Amino acid sequence: MSHSLQSGRPAHWLDKPYYSLHAYCRHTFHEKLYKIAIDAGMTCPNRDGLLDTRGCIFCSAGGSGEFAVKAQGRSVAQQIQCGLTLFRGKQTGERFIAYFQAFTNTYAPVSRLRTLFTQALETPQIAGISIATRPDCLPETVLCLLTDLRQTFPDKFIWLELGLQTIHPRTADYIRRGYPLSCFTDAVHRLCLRRLPVIVHIILGLPGENRRQIYETISFLNTLPVFGVKLQLLHVLEGTDLAADYRAGMFRLPDQEQYTDLVIGALERLSPEIVVHRITGDGPKNLLIAPKWSLHKRAVLNRIHQEMRRRDTWQGKYAPPGHFSV
Ligand code: SF4
Repeated sequence: MSHSLQSGRPAHWLDKPYYSLHAYCRHTFHEKLYKIAIDAGMTCPNRDGLLDTRGCIFCSAGGSGEFAVKAQGRSVAQQIQCGLTLFRGKQTGERFIAYFQAFTNTYAPVSRLRTLFTQALETPQIAGISIATRPDCLPETVLCLLTDLRQTFPDKFIWLELGLQTIHPRTADYIRRGYPLSCFTDAVHRLCLRRLPVIVHIILGLPGENRRQIYETISFLNTLPVFGVKLQLLHVLEGTDLAADYRAGMFRLPDQEQYTDLVIGALERLSPEIVVHRITGDGPKNLLIAPKWSLHKRAVLNRIHQEMRRRDTWQGKYAPPGHFSV
């Protein structure tokens, strides 16, 4: 979307100094879309032995899907109905996003994926689906399926969420990401050609990364046709190898003030065209070892917003012009 910046903040950003998902949904769908997290019973090549059995170093046993409606053998359609029931009585809009969150949600036969995604897309209250996956799990057969589904459900959207985390190979090796940067850029371009919007997950505060490296990752995103970004605070979860390194004192996490400063710097360097889906983390309470301050999510967000107002700054303040329009 192209727009002119007035005082750094376009009107469609609403009350935030960045282009939030909330603002995007209000602008595009005229209501806020809440997410219903789905556990579709997937696994991941980083866990099933194809690439590794240990998973990414920060990934919990639930494959980062602890917020999914407790699946217990339930179909996608049943999980969506459970999610809708949980939202009943709360102040929400009419429509929701089905978020295929746990593990790698394109790592299955195409026929199975078709069934899973169709169940969500044919639910009237679902405005669209967001599919968390890996760039090395997007063969052309899957892209054909997604293109086909988009044509079958023309009034619904299909977003892809890719966990890049960092552009730096040494950090990518440490976290056991399992694919090179070229695989990511190739996937983004192939998805763009098919007009399938991409949301990129970046972790701020990975061990061994300094501020300059984090901002290099942000600047790199500005050069790609990326629709959205999730800026995630690094969480240390029980049962992960990251937790062992943390307890061994191998790295320190940013405190809340340091994180506030870090995330503001990231937003300042991010193109104002890219929708910001998240600026903090949402670690499962029962597994979170550190940082505990992140549990107070509302306070974390308020602090970031207050500080951005105090500094009179906004998303893209220091980003060069010319991001791809998607
Ligand atoms: S790719 Fe995702 S699901 Fe797989 S191990 Fe890494 S974080 Fe976990």
